[in-house]
Amino acid sequence: MKSREAWQELEKIREGRDVVGHVEEVLARVEKWEGEVKAYISLEIPELLRQRGEELERRLRKGEKVGKLAGLLVSVKDNICTTALPTTAGSRMLDGYVSPYNATVVERLLAEDAIVIGKTNLDEFAMGSTTELSAFWPTRNPWDLTRVPGGSSGGSASSLAYGGADLSLGSDTGGSARLPAAYTATVGLKPTYGLVSRYGLIPYGNSLEQISPMARSVRDVALLLEVIGGWDARDATSLRVGSPVFSLEPAEARGQKICLVKEMVEGAEEPVEKLFWNVVEKLSSEGAELEEVRIPVLSKALPTYYTIAFAEAASNLARYAGIFYPSKGSSGIWEEYVGEARAKGFGREVKRRILMGVYALSEGFRDEFYVAATRVRRAIRDEVLKLTRRCIIAAQASPILPPRIGERLDDPLKLYYMDMYTVVANLAGVPALVQPIGFSHGLPVGIQWIAGPLEEQKLISLGLLVESLTGLAGVMVD
Ligand code: GLN
Repeated sequence: MKSREAWQELEKIREGRDVVGHVEEVLARVEKWEGEVKAYISLEIPELLRQRGEELERRLRKGEKVGKLAGLLVSVKDNICTTALPTTAGSRMLDGYVSPYNATVVERLLAEDAIVIGKTNLDEFAMGSTTELSAFWPTRNPWDLTRVPGGSSGGSASSLAYGGADLSLGSDTGGSARLPAAYTATVGLKPTYGLVSRYGLIPYGNSLEQISPMARSVRDVALLLEVIGGWDARDATSLRVGSPVFSLEPAEARGQKICLVKEMVEGAEEPVEKLFWNVVEKLSSEGAELEEVRIPVLSKALPTYYTIAFAEAASNLARYAGIFYPSKGSSGIWEEYVGEARAKGFGREVKRRILMGVYALSEGFRDEFYVAATRVRRAIRDEVLKLTRRCIIAAQASPILPPRIGERLDDPLKLYYMDMYTVVANLAGVPALVQPIGFSHGLPVGIQWIAGPLEEQKLISLGLLVESLTGLAGVMVD
């Protein structure tokens, strides 16, 4: 096991270490691992990456001011638009598509002199929990190549876990940044809804999702969120807040109020349970105040999430008719053309979700499904907001250890079930952080912390405290 944090690399670069050397180091990791892991759908040409490094070195030598992420290599999930590399969303429907504009978050990375190294694999249109539903190939977990890295931001998580990027952008609609973080010993933070611009994110469930910073440590995630967060005129749901600035002072365990919500703590398999309680008891022995709570309505969180997510997905995916976006349909009458483009362009799970989403929205069923789900959502949000006013919620990240490739593909419900602890934060619109707390049988286990709206600072401070207890900052495979 190695340890490397992005902010340390940044300091070395500022102290005069050559940027090209850093680029070479990361490329060597890609060379070593990528063949087996397959985290990337597309990689930037190495020569171009070296050139970016040289440019930055020249500017540094001249004493010019450089950006906050100068020389860091960032991997970007392939549902976030970039002009330099194609954006496929993991779907045949967008195979070869090159966006005419950069997502706001990508513009912000470039403005801070980050270098985009490549676009990472995901479940098709971010619909999945393992990255096996990518139309291209499954990504493997660097900690155990027979296992999945979680999903849908599995490519981002794996690229970090093998050292093939310093930082990564994922997206999180129902856990897609946090589940992969838990499975790869990395950190993922789903921000408050509206803190990060969604402009240039290929939409799946608009009312639920946020582009999410991912990294190998809490400090690195904070650094990345400072750069991508804050109001954007091009996203109507973006909050009128400035770029966040975080203190890197760890929280004090003493007096820290932690609520253990029964519905989000119970039900995980034994090794996961054990590591969860180790950390919670450690915090308690150092003075944190624990309180056990129940929120019965959370037993409805998973069906509520999936009803809303499918309905939004069905509406979003209607734009893919094989006309404006590239697809290889044949000519013919309109219905046949569109039908053929969709039959070929969409995978099985995406089609399933479109069908179910249309059903949940259709006349006669709308009240029973979609409208009912929005009501339960409101009840969940109210409960979570009430609780986060007095404590941080501690929750499991995943009910199971990273499964083997193929293990859970026979039944979609087995995939949906993996999100049982993560969807709550998306339904409530509140921030949530997953960080590593240990390994069981060589497999990473994470813990999840949830705070109130715009309380990312609390998550970061607590995350830093937990890192100081576990010593698990910056870890990656050898
Ligand atoms: N696994 C969940 C789903 O398939 C969450 C995906 C996500 O967060 N993008 O909907």
